[in-house]
Amino acid sequence: MLRFAPSPTGDMHIGNLRVAIFNHIISKQRNEKLIIRIEDTDRERNIDGKEREILELLNKFKIDYSQVVFQSHNIKFHQQIAMKLMMDKKAFACFCPEDILHKKREGAKKAKEAYRYDGACELLNDTEVMENEKPFVVRFKKPTENINFFDGIKGEFEFNPKEIDSFIILRVDKYPTYNFACAVDDMLLDVSVVIRGEDHLSNTPKQIAIRDAMNYDKVIDYIHLPIILGESGKKMSKRDDESSVKWLLEEGFLVEAIENYLILLGNKTPKEIFSIHEAIDFFSVKNISKSPAKFDIDKLKFINREQMKLKDELELSKLLGFADVHIGALAKLYVEEADTIKELKPKIDKFFAPKESKEFKNEIEQLKNILKSKEFETFNDLKSYAMSESGLKGKNLFKPLRFVLTGAFSGPEISKIYPCIKGYLGEIIK
Ligand code: GLU
Repeated sequence: MLRFAPSPTGDMHIGNLRVAIFNHIISKQRNEKLIIRIEDTDRERNIDGKEREILELLNKFKIDYSQVVFQSHNIKFHQQIAMKLMMDKKAFACFCPEDILHKKREGAKKAKEAYRYDGACELLNDTEVMENEKPFVVRFKKPTENINFFDGIKGEFEFNPKEIDSFIILRVDKYPTYNFACAVDDMLLDVSVVIRGEDHLSNTPKQIAIRDAMNYDKVIDYIHLPIILGESGKKMSKRDDESSVKWLLEEGFLVEAIENYLILLGNKTPKEIFSIHEAIDFFSVKNISKSPAKFDIDKLKFINREQMKLKDELELSKLLGFADVHIGALAKLYVEEADTIKELKPKIDKFFAPKESKEFKNEIEQLKNILKSKEFETFNDLKSYAMSESGLKGKNLFKPLRFVLTGAFSGPEISKIYPCIKGYLGEIIK
């Protein structure tokens, strides 16, 4: 079982989508199911409706999952397991007031040390705990031995107990923290591979320590993906438009191009342009670079053009608001001049707009009148008729004629355009 575990706390960014895509690919390669787990236990940070938005995007990208589960539905299990850990003396109630902890954290900061819980409540006996009426959190007792694990991209890791720390597993409201809920759910879901961003590397030993304390001995394979840096070389912020999947789609990047780009990023692939289905055949985490990848919008634009070329004509026309292979064929003639669907659409819409221009004003009006309500099999037939009826020649014929047919004075070869538009002359010549 694999899982993609988004938090409904913000827009889906390309880093999240990349994790979802890799989960999809590896679940297909291993022939294991993929589950979507909405990590909604951080009630303060949850944003209403975000989970629906995330699921819609996953559907748009055809991420194949077998089930959606909500972490908050498992809270009774998180609490039961926390109680079991307390009974086994592997977790303890901590009454330390927030202001005292704050002071200790500040002290550590001043001393330029990482703050670690000092164990103040760890040695309270059962009676002292029972007699204390104050609110409490539950902390996990840090392990006594180092935790090792192997990451599929970065290799071996070893963390000592101090780094793992006696961290909080249930908050004052008895809601689980991320590390605890995640460790328990990965166990309950029988997860075999965890793929996520490398910002979670330091969480992994904590999650393993929880499962060790439960005597759960299944080894989970970990794959932590290097982060994606912005073009400036700095970490992409969630506020950077380019990092938002929604924004990229609104800008007219194709699902297939975004997918292609995110698989290619920081990876060695046998070719540059491919579909996610093809990637299932060749993808291997061994080819993913250990260092951060850099987002390059120009590369994405190039891939987008290539993927637009690969679209079948009907599909391409639908993306432009039409449903006709001829419009798709017409659009393909303009693909080299447009990076995105958003740039391609006005080029096609121009054909259907009223044809008005100061340049060649009279010639344009004359040609519109001559060609109105007529049909011609080939562009040559149309041209000969226009020439003989108008008496126009050379530049004075060809420039306004192109304008009347395409809405522009320049563009791809008109003889190639004509077969695509000849069924629409009535809507074009106006
Ligand atoms: N909810 C976490 C996130 O969105 C998931 C991390 C994980 O996959 O364990 O970053």
